[in-house]
Amino acid sequence: MHIGIVGGGQLGRMLAQAGAPLDMRFTFLDPSTQACAASQGVHLCADWDDEEAHQALIEASDVITFEFENVSTMALTQLAEQRPAFPPAKALETARDRGAEKSLFQSLDIAIAPIALIESQEDLDRAVAEIGLPAVLKTRTLGYDGKGQKVLRSADYVPGSVAELGDVPLILEGFIDFDHEVSAIAVRGRDGEVRVWPLSRNEHRQGILHRAEPQPDHPLYARAADYATRVLDALEYVGVMAFEFFVTRDGELLANEIAPRVHNSGHWSIEGATTSQFENHLRAVAGLPLGDTTRLVPCAMLNIIGAFPDRDAVLSVAGARLHDYDKAPRPGRKIGHVTVLAPDEATLAERVAAVEALLVNDLG
Ligand code: AMP
Repeated sequence: MHIGIVGGGQLGRMLAQAGAPLDMRFTFLDPSTQACAASQGVHLCADWDDEEAHQALIEASDVITFEFENVSTMALTQLAEQRPAFPPAKALETARDRGAEKSLFQSLDIAIAPIALIESQEDLDRAVAEIGLPAVLKTRTLGYDGKGQKVLRSADYVPGSVAELGDVPLILEGFIDFDHEVSAIAVRGRDGEVRVWPLSRNEHRQGILHRAEPQPDHPLYARAADYATRVLDALEYVGVMAFEFFVTRDGELLANEIAPRVHNSGHWSIEGATTSQFENHLRAVAGLPLGDTTRLVPCAMLNIIGAFPDRDAVLSVAGARLHDYDKAPRPGRKIGHVTVLAPDEATLAERVAAVEALLVNDLG
């Protein structure tokens, strides 16, 4: 089967690596000459909206999917008219607007932080009076890895904040003093079957994911899986979707955001689950039966950001599996990850500490 992927970054690269044993072939559309998925298939190096490249992608593909979510609605619609294309345009549109995302959560009775949509400094002043401080002000679109947001710690931070974030549509969220953050990676097949991997407990540094660890016994799994299923069904979704949540100090689960694609906090599933997020995404979009999402052994994933650690040293740690995305190092850029596997939790903690000591991450 021939799969077309819009986006040729590391997610596309890992999708292709997962598809190879199933004899899937890949064509990537990505404007970057350095697209790191290029070595795994055919690379159409053209702008996201380039009509000729769209035609070439359509001709090369039995089914089209996305690893990059900021594709124009027009491009999406054109592709979907000529080939089966998943996930659906509606899901990509919802996920790239924090306002639409939050109102979808509210319409499905999914708990979230208090929010207000902001168009002007006056809106912000009013919303701060209602929601209180501290609060987080975020751009509604194009934010990622903690970019495009500002924590309003006290009243001193409020004046001028709307202009500072570029006078674009914003959303104000009450600041959640969370106990920890988790994500649920879920997949929905063409027939509507849903499977959810164990929740991943995630630690961020400077807004960038540092460590993700699946927790098969997390007490909020059933609630998270229920929330995920509501969203996937409402969007008639096909493929993998990631859900990020806050777990409050009194054990409440609050939805933060969705990503309509495979997700960094699910990379552990390549070696750590019976079926990885990448393989199940491909199975879903190709209309194949979904695979089991059980965690196989205790494991954790650590990101490699901005600078590569000593490869030989990482490979010498028992249970460490190194992934090099073949990307030029730049501060704050994800260029690889390490999944650490172990027979038990105590050994996992030792091995993770050994790999962490080798990391030379540059977060920028
Ligand atoms: P986001 O881009 O929404 O995923 O935010 C990036 C990170 O900022 C999250 O993973 C949290 O660690 C933190 N953050 C975002 N929103 C809030 C909030 N409302 N309260 C507390 N921390 C937040």
